[in-house]
Amino acid sequence: MAQHQFQTEVSQLLHLIIHSLYSNREIFLREIVSNASDALDKLKYLTVADDAYKSVTFDPRIDISFDKDAKTLTIADTGIGMNEQDLTESLGTIARSGTRAFLEKLAEDAKKDSNLIGQFGVGFYSAFMVADKIDVITKKAGEDQAWKWTSDGKEGYDIEKAQRDSQGTTVILHLTEEGLEFANRWSIEDIIKRYSNHVAFPIYLTFEEKKWDDKGKETGSETKTERINSGTAIWRQAKNELKEEDYVEFYKQIGHDSEPPLFYLHTRAEGTLEYTTLFYIPEKAPFDLYNVDYKAGVKLYVKRVFITDDDKELMPTYLRFVRGVIDSEDLPLNVSREILQQNKVLLNIKNASVKKLLSEFKTISENNKEKWETFVSQYNRPLKEGLYQDFTNREALQELVRFKSSSEEGWTSLADYTGRMKSDQKYIYYITGGDEKTLKASPLLEAYRAKNIEVLIMDDEIDDIVIPSMGKYKDWEFKAVNRSGADEEIGEKKDKNAEKEIKPVLEKIKNALGDRVKDVKLSRRLHDSPSCIVADENDPTIQMAQMLKAMGQ
Ligand code: ADP
Ligand code: MG
Repeated sequence: MAQHQFQTEVSQLLHLIIHSLYSNREIFLREIVSNASDALDKLKYLTVADDAYKSVTFDPRIDISFDKDAKTLTIADTGIGMNEQDLTESLGTIARSGTRAFLEKLAEDAKKDSNLIGQFGVGFYSAFMVADKIDVITKKAGEDQAWKWTSDGKEGYDIEKAQRDSQGTTVILHLTEEGLEFANRWSIEDIIKRYSNHVAFPIYLTFEEKKWDDKGKETGSETKTERINSGTAIWRQAKNELKEEDYVEFYKQIGHDSEPPLFYLHTRAEGTLEYTTLFYIPEKAPFDLYNVDYKAGVKLYVKRVFITDDDKELMPTYLRFVRGVIDSEDLPLNVSREILQQNKVLLNIKNASVKKLLSEFKTISENNKEKWETFVSQYNRPLKEGLYQDFTNREALQELVRFKSSSEEGWTSLADYTGRMKSDQKYIYYITGGDEKTLKASPLLEAYRAKNIEVLIMDDEIDDIVIPSMGKYKDWEFKAVNRSGADEEIGEKKDKNAEKEIKPVLEKIKNALGDRVKDVKLSRRLHDSPSCIVADENDPTIQMAQMLKAMGQ
């Protein structure tokens, strides 16, 4: 009987991982190694940034060994380690609520996508795909007591006092019959080269090598330890030394993705500021894109030393889908995470990076139709958020966002729309308040169709907020056709007589509807339909009212 119960979510997660991600079991090693690498990064940072850790001997390494007879696979690191509390918090609960969303999603559409695991920080548990018991023996840097965590991955876990010479963590996997295939030199080397070759710390493998005499007779064996990763920080290498595969492999490692990225952007800046950036755009939008507590995708390094991967300020929120690395030469190594936020150097790097990314997006929109369509399908919505978050780059963003149209198939840019506009058209017309199909069938469009005026179909929830806040596109203002007042320009000339004749009818309708409407008016915007509902020019639209209500206002 385990002393500690897993949080319910952990049990669910374990169950799901073990049963749904079976076809991609080997990723467990990438996950365990990346935890070891993170632990080394954290200790490395402390030894340079915090005087309390100055005396710690930092000999960074990751050691892998296996024992076929005992059916174990062991991964040890000399990183930061964990104390009792860390163990409970890290290996007994799922701290991030994003994980819950992941769980629901995975259960609901049964999408067996291993990419998601790493993104949600559930990496460690993936080891239960190959092990029926895991021991973690660990000692935190600067503390005296070591601890052992043990679990069979079912109900809960035990924690007890243990022995360990120096700081770091040893993960011992007790392999299942199927897991045994990973207890051999070649598959470990193969998996490490594929997923973890660019881990910045040396990864060693210890194995037995048989010895033979001249006649081919086995004479015993010898224990050998060899380094199996190359460990270069690829972003610091020159572009012409790097192959496509190098970029892709590094992406898979840092992006926790098993698919190659959609594209990447590698930049070295020299001059007043010296820095390197390597950014990736995932082919599929990260799963937590619309979670408030999404995981930041860009890691910060100073002169190759890892500083943080948890700083959302490194990218504007609307570019939160970008993955990659920023490595600066000009920041002090012991820069604290708190002051990073106001740091001028970092701010400059960030601003330049945003400009670079936006201009790369533009280039792709012009030169690579296929990539661009994928990009729009995944990232159009976050870019729209940029329209009201990032005034400096608004013009660039206006050229990137896409909309549907009442008269064209597929996506339309504002440049396309205004290019097709008649010379006397004063406004960019748009309609909001439903899905694309409903909007396209709206009676409100009749008068515009009759006059051959194109209307942009805005079916994204946020369009209602974005467009009014955006002001103008070049010289043109935007006009919502689902608001009163929009028919002034489009409708037929006012007919005083008609207005007089219809007045009693309007009054009757108004009485019948009572409080349910604000007003009943004669409109010139319809052609075939007898009536329609619109929002007052100054009130929120129905869609917006619903959003405000959902936000508790
Ligand atoms: P993530 O790495 O995304 O945070 P994991 O499930 O892989 O999620 O690991 C959970 C947590 O367990 C880590 O965040 C870390 O705090 C702790 N942890 C796991 N392995 C190690 C290790 N080798 N050394 C120190 N801490 C570790
Ligand atoms: Mg991890």
